[in-house]
Amino acid sequence: MKALMFHYVRKFDLNFPYSKHKEIDDFAKEIKNLISLGYEFKNVTEAINSLKKDEDLNKVILLTFDDGLKDHLNAAKILKNLGITKGTFYIPTQPYLNNEILHVHKAHLILSKEGENSLDLLFEACNHLDISITDHNNYEIEKENYKNAYSRFDANTKIKEFKRLINFYGSIGVRDVLLNEIIRKLGILKKAEDLYLSFDEIKEISEMGFEIGSHGVSHTLLSRLDKKNQKEELSSSKKFLEDLISEDINSFCYPYGGRKSYNQNTLRLLKEVNYHNAISVEQRSINKETIKNNLFEIPRYDCNQIRELFLKR
Ligand SMILES: [Zn+2]
Repeated sequence: MKALMFHYVRKFDLNFPYSKHKEIDDFAKEIKNLISLGYEFKNVTEAINSLKKDEDLNKVILLTFDDGLKDHLNAAKILKNLGITKGTFYIPTQPYLNNEILHVHKAHLILSKEGENSLDLLFEACNHLDISITDHNNYEIEKENYKNAYSRFDANTKIKEFKRLINFYGSIGVRDVLLNEIIRKLGILKKAEDLYLSFDEIKEISEMGFEIGSHGVSHTLLSRLDKKNQKEELSSSKKFLEDLISEDINSFCYPYGGRKSYNQNTLRLLKEVNYHNAISVEQRSINKETIKNNLFEIPRYDCNQIRELFLKR
C-alpha cells in the first residue's frame, strides 16, 4: 500500500508562472490510469484499521490532500465522477479564525509569481521595514538543525533559502509582516476565501465519503514550538474540525512532514489528545511492519512520483 500527497491541483495561471502544481487534467488522467491498473482507494484511518486486521492491501492507494485548498473541492468532484469517494483531506484551521492566508501560502504566492527573485524581495522588505528575519534567540541552533530542509527538492538555492527562512529558521514573529509587505508590493490580491475551502465545501467533501484530518492550526513547524503550543495546535484544530463536520477527527498530518518537523513531544501529544494516526513525508510504502510499532509516522510519496511508482512499464 502506498500513500500519495497532493497540494495544488489546478490549471496553469499566467499570473503565477513559477507555480508548482499538479495540472488538473493530468490529475484526472493519472487517477484513471491507476483505476485501470486495478488499484483501489481508501481513507487513511480506514486503511490502517484494515491493515491491523491483516487484510491484503497491496493494491490500495491512499490519496491525501494537504492544506485545505479550494482546489481540493474540484479534485474531490473529479474523484467522485470516477467512482472514488475515498481519500483524506488535511485542513489547517487558522485561516477560519483570522481570515488570513497562512504564511506558508503567502510564501507560495510570492514564489509562484517571482521564482528565485523572492529571496531578494524578502531582503528588500527587511531593509524597507527595518526588520531582521534572523534576529531571534534560536536562530543559530535552528539554522544548523534545519539546514537540510528541502534538500530533496529540485529547486535552486535562492528558492530553498527563501523557504527555509520563512518556514524553518527565520523569526516566526516577523515573517507575516514581511510577507504582507512583499505581497502588497507585487499587487497580489488573493484573499483567504479565494485560497481555502469554505465550511460548506469541507462538509461537502466529508459527506461524499472522504475523511477529514487535521493539519494543525497555523502550519508552523511543530518542532519549533514548546509543548504547550504544540498541544494547542493538535487539540484545538481537532476540536474545531469535529464541531464543523460532527465526526471524530482521527488522522493528523504534520506541517512540512519531514523527520525534523516533529519531535518526541509531538508523538506523545498526538496520543494524549486522541489522534489514531499521523502521516509524514518519508518516501516509503506502507505495510504491516511499518505500522506495527508506530501509527504516527505513516510514510507517503509525492504525487509527482505517480509515474515512476505505478505507471512505468
Ligand atoms: Zn501543509
